[in-house]
Amino acid sequence: MNYEQLVDSFDREHLWHPYTSTLNPLPTYKVERADGCILTLSDGTRLIDGMSSWWCAVHGYNHPVLNKAIEEQLGRMSHVMFGGLTHTPAIELGKLLLEVVPPSMQKIFYADSGSVAVEVALKMAVQYQFAAGKPEKSNFITIRSGYHGDTWNAMSVCDPVTGMHSLFGSALPVRFFAPSPKSRFGGEWDEADILPLREVIEQHHQELAGLILEPIVQGAGGMWFYHPNYLREAAKLCREYGLLLIFDEIATGFGRTGKLFAWEHAGVEPDIMCIGKALTGGYMTFSAVLTTDRVADCISSHHPNVFMHGPTFMGNPLACAVAKASVQLLLSSGWKEKVACIEKQLREELAPASLLPQVEDVRVLGAIGVIEMKKPVDMAQMQRLFIEEGIWVRPFGKLVYIMPPFIITPQELSKLTSGLIKVVKQTL
Ligand code: PMP
Repeated sequence: MNYEQLVDSFDREHLWHPYTSTLNPLPTYKVERADGCILTLSDGTRLIDGMSSWWCAVHGYNHPVLNKAIEEQLGRMSHVMFGGLTHTPAIELGKLLLEVVPPSMQKIFYADSGSVAVEVALKMAVQYQFAAGKPEKSNFITIRSGYHGDTWNAMSVCDPVTGMHSLFGSALPVRFFAPSPKSRFGGEWDEADILPLREVIEQHHQELAGLILEPIVQGAGGMWFYHPNYLREAAKLCREYGLLLIFDEIATGFGRTGKLFAWEHAGVEPDIMCIGKALTGGYMTFSAVLTTDRVADCISSHHPNVFMHGPTFMGNPLACAVAKASVQLLLSSGWKEKVACIEKQLREELAPASLLPQVEDVRVLGAIGVIEMKKPVDMAQMQRLFIEEGIWVRPFGKLVYIMPPFIITPQELSKLTSGLIKVVKQTL
């Protein structure tokens, strides 16, 4: 057995991949290196990346600016505890973030990953209500088809059907769910869309700490783009009934939807906001939870006068340094024009798919292109066909979608979309 085979069989026998069986694992492809928009497999196959490593790698891979930022920080310190200590990367990143997030966001809590950010946001809302003299307001409402991560409480606010609720049953806290908005982004606003949310909030506001949702784009729970008026109406309800409004911008943040953050589509500022994924340009796991002075000061002025959370790797200097470099690079890169060009090209090149009998819907927003099939696809088989086309796309359920790095060239994008359509045509 040569080295390649040894490593591959080790992977198959010992490494548990995301959402994968150990008995019958889906095939994995070994990546040797990644540069720009290209993933190079160990056998030399070059794939155009359509996934940005799950929304993260907006600048592509192996970027000299991000490499330099992390290398320079490595020479100074890779980590120190954030309890009682601070450092320039955390401060400089914080200053930069305040320039780009909603103006009311003034306090920043660094966390380790998207799911942890969601946990932190939910705890923050509960602790706020407790401090505000409303300890009974400790539950949450959300909308169906959402996805907020895989940890316990994050899971509890994921879609109850496509998420893991039936599997984890009574072990999960029971949340309130309103239907996902039907009015599409760019379509007509149907006022009836908000009524179910209003109904649940009217009935249960005494026990609700907050409403959590992904603004405008519901990601892994259905890749659905909904009308900004839903956020405007939801924000009014939150104000009326004393709920905190929590935006999970972990996937939508940093330009992906055509705005720097998705809240801007509606002009609605949340009380708490989670960011992650593209925050570090995909270099390291890292996230942040932002909130208003009102929320932070209320928590801090009532017993126990502190926010009860503090992860070991909080404010990791390497992550802060590369995040600062990534946000600066994004802001100076002409991202808006690039995303607008990707959007236009996706619209043109994916449109023919809507005529295929196996396709239910085609939708595009910013640098996100979605082909929704009528039936769930065979992921392993489809992935193999994508690789034969020289592209990296990972479908799930009925959704075949791409969100390429913003640096993708029009030629690379055309190769991605034509490969995508060719494979979709073969899928019955
Ligand atoms: N929220 C949203 C909207 C996400 O898309 C994700 C990740 N797909 C998460 C939270 C969880 O982030 P992580 O995987 O970094 O824990």
